[in-house]
Amino acid sequence: MGTGSSGSAPRQRSRRPLPEVSVLRVGHRPGRDPRLTTHLGLAARALGARRLYLHPPDEAIRDRLEKVVGDWGGAFEVVPTRDWKAVVRSHEGPVVHLTMYGLDLERLLPELRRARRVLIVVGGAKVPAELYALATFNAAVGHQPHSEVAALAVALDRIGGIPGPATFRGGKRRVVPTARGKRLRQRRESLR
Ligand code: SAM
Repeated sequence: MGTGSSGSAPRQRSRRPLPEVSVLRVGHRPGRDPRLTTHLGLAARALGARRLYLHPPDEAIRDRLEKVVGDWGGAFEVVPTRDWKAVVRSHEGPVVHLTMYGLDLERLLPELRRARRVLIVVGGAKVPAELYALATFNAAVGHQPHSEVAALAVALDRIGGIPGPATFRGGKRRVVPTARGKRLRQRRESLR
């Protein structure tokens, strides 16, 4: 359930189920990008994606993100892959490659929101040229260079809105929103 924080929160407008969104990170550099790719995974999970395909595999990042899922709940998974093309080719639904060279993401939203499954692909320092041809859509979040984390966050919000707390069942802790300071609800057994 979305909280409806964005201007046109799709979860409030329609009863149609939102697409299940997976994210494929192509060209992670193990040992060089740990913080950026971890942040990508955190943003993917927190903003409603169901899984992160991580190319190439990086066990340390998978472990770190799985610990977050254990602590904070939800069904997010990290799927390491050596073959990003196989992930793209086997996806049943639109494949959206985020790139500043693409069409405006905004134009594609009606079609993406109607899909059952969407795969969002983000690149790293170098993006394989084949990706532009294999994607269903090359989509831009503005036409200026920025970051995969920023592009993904905007795309997830525009497609599905920010998920509410019901999405993150089963964790050990939950934030109690407060005007000042930090409040957490902690449980030894999982929060329902
Ligand atoms: N130099 C890379 C290339 O060959 O295009 C891009 C590097 S950029 C730091 C990393 C990723 O951020 C891109 O692959 C893309 O997924 C995402 N990105 C950056 N700016 C974007 C924009 N304006 N719109 C959509 N995605 C963007």
